[in-house]
Amino acid sequence: MSERIGAQDPLLLDTTMRDGHQTPGVNFGVDDKIEIATLLADIGVDIVEAGYPFSSPADFRAVEEVAKEVGDRVIVSSFGRITLPDVEAACEAVEPAKKYGHARVHIGIATSELHMAEKLHMTRAQVLTATRLGVARAKEFTDDVQFYAEDASRSDFDFLMAVLIEAAGAGATTLMVPDTVGACAPDQYGNLIRSTKGRLAKEFGAGAVAVSAHCHNDLGLATINTLAALADGEDGEEGADQVEAVVGGYGERAGNASLEEVAITMHLLPHLVSGRQLGIEMSGLTHLANTVAELGGVPLPQSKPVVGPAAHEHKSGIHQDGVDKGLRSGVNTIYTPYPPELVGQETTFCNDAQSGKAGARSRLEAIGMDVTPEQVKEISEKATLLAGNEGRDVVDSDFEALAALVTGEELVDQIKLDDFTASKSKGQPSFGSVEVGNVKETAISTGGELDAVAIAIYKATGLKCEIKKWKTGIKVPGSNAAVGVFGTLAMNGHEVRVYARSTSTVEAEIETYAKGLNMLCRIQERTVAVTPES
Ligand code: MN
Repeated sequence: MSERIGAQDPLLLDTTMRDGHQTPGVNFGVDDKIEIATLLADIGVDIVEAGYPFSSPADFRAVEEVAKEVGDRVIVSSFGRITLPDVEAACEAVEPAKKYGHARVHIGIATSELHMAEKLHMTRAQVLTATRLGVARAKEFTDDVQFYAEDASRSDFDFLMAVLIEAAGAGATTLMVPDTVGACAPDQYGNLIRSTKGRLAKEFGAGAVAVSAHCHNDLGLATINTLAALADGEDGEEGADQVEAVVGGYGERAGNASLEEVAITMHLLPHLVSGRQLGIEMSGLTHLANTVAELGGVPLPQSKPVVGPAAHEHKSGIHQDGVDKGLRSGVNTIYTPYPPELVGQETTFCNDAQSGKAGARSRLEAIGMDVTPEQVKEISEKATLLAGNEGRDVVDSDFEALAALVTGEELVDQIKLDDFTASKSKGQPSFGSVEVGNVKETAISTGGELDAVAIAIYKATGLKCEIKKWKTGIKVPGSNAAVGVFGTLAMNGHEVRVYARSTSTVEAEIETYAKGLNMLCRIQERTVAVTPES
């Protein structure tokens, strides 16, 4: 049993690698899980649920490797059904964490009439027996046994209590009471958690077993339901001892409670959770969510609260003006409830036809263009026209070109791609060649045509930049043939967002890369006096 039970703050169990793994399209491999588990341990999560070992040999190995990698500093939970083969696989896989006292086995069975009758084809008596046998088997392996009563929120309360008492009697130390289909209202779920705690306290004494909250987002209520579970009742009945969440809110159907939403809301609105806190390092949340999205292969929705790519981006001129004025006097909460840096994000401006001077000025400064306020106004007006005409964001490469037009600055390209070739045949690596000035270079890469050309550019010029973000295949309004590419590229601490388009995707991609590289070289020159670089 955890030493923190009965203390003020709840434990946090992250189930990104188990419930989050159940997201359509997401399939974390062993290495992916090690990377995610390490980041979770770094930010201070108490328990990482590593997977469901009985489900596949790969997931068995993943749980085993996670237990080996992070078992010394975090509790590792191994999931399964209550059936004995599941329990045994769960125990065996998490074994490497046992020597640190960090092996948790998390097993359970459904307790709603609907699930018992239609899915399990089991009677109440059979469910009680299976619970006792499964928990007892897990208890032979570890003291740290968590039991879940699937579909608890739609179960008959008295029967649910009978099952939980059976599980705790057989040795379970944490009891999870999930809203499996995300059907509860916040007050209903909060009451369920507190009533459960009250009933268990009567049976085993206060604080003898921990109760865990686990919410799904089918009605968009997963976060608020999780918070409701943590709050004390009107007569001082205590909230949940443990909460469960998934990074980015990934999960089956509409997903699970988002770790980052729960964490930031507890921090900003502590009255919702009777002052309880998670004690995690919130500045790591964005990197964590981006890593999970990348490894899982399913991007975060752009407006995902807290960690979404546009969650701290301002587009309208009114907002940009306010945010810009605030930032200039050191205030970064003009149009956001908390400074984005708190969660590892930063304020960004997206420039399009609705944007104004402030956005333009901020980007011109970032790319080192020296312009007067009158010129900013002119550039901003041209940017608005461009955005309207092309129906897309105006990015740094546009601002630089427009500024050059207005100021008369000549933009010199380091790399003039007089000639490039890129090709790919089935089963072969990609081939790329470039001619820069009089130098001709070729390269091959298993990473695609752009990569081959980028290597060839490097061989010819010694110049390369890092691709931070890449969005290809963007529809160009008014053309069925052309595709657009937005790329965010970085070199020597500078970062630029560029756009190029062509009737060939590969050509548009190579042009985007070359455009960015040329721009980064110019920025380097413009700012060389400020930041000397060897
Ligand atoms: Mn779940």
